[in-house]
Amino acid sequence: MRAIYADLKRARMRPTSSRVAVLRLFHEFPNEHMTADQVFRRVPPETEQCSLASVYRALSQLLEAGLITNAWIGEQRVVYELNRGTRHSHLVCNDCGEVADIDDTELESQHETIAGARGFRYTSASLVIFGRCAHCEATLESRVRRTGAMHGLSRRP
Ligand SMILES: [Zn+2]
Ligand SMILES: [Zn+2]
Repeated sequence: MRAIYADLKRARMRPTSSRVAVLRLFHEFPNEHMTADQVFRRVPPETEQCSLASVYRALSQLLEAGLITNAWIGEQRVVYELNRGTRHSHLVCNDCGEVADIDDTELESQHETIAGARGFRYTSASLVIFGRCAHCEATLESRVRRTGAMHGLSRRP
C-alpha cells in the first residue's frame, strides 16, 4: 500500500481513489496483463468514483507517468501491466487469449541493431507472436484423441 502512494508521489500525481485502486491492482498482480475492461471489473466495487471512464483516465495517467506499460495484442486489444522496468514482447494464444511475456534480452538487442542499421535510435518495439498455448494445445490433442477413438469404435463391425 505504501509503495503505491510513494509511486504516485514520485510521479507527482494526486492519490485519487481511482488511481490508487487501479495501481494497487497492478501491484497485487505484477505479472498479469489486463484490458481496461478487466481492470474495471476487478477494481473493488466500493471504490469511489470508479466508472469505466475514470478507469480509462487513471490508466492513461499511470501510463504517462511510466508506472504501467501497455501493449497492443491484435484486434484492437490493448493490455496494461505493471512497469517492471524491462522492455519485453508478448506471446498471445489465439484460442484462450492468454498473454505471456517474452523476456529475451537478445531479442531486444536485435531490435536495437535493426533500428541502428537504418539510422534509427531504438525506443520501443511492439512484437506479438500468436499461437496456441500449452494448455489449449493439450486440450485440443485430447479432444482429437477422443473423437479419433470414437470413430475407431464406430467402424468396428
Ligand atoms: Zn490458450
Ligand atoms: Zn507483458
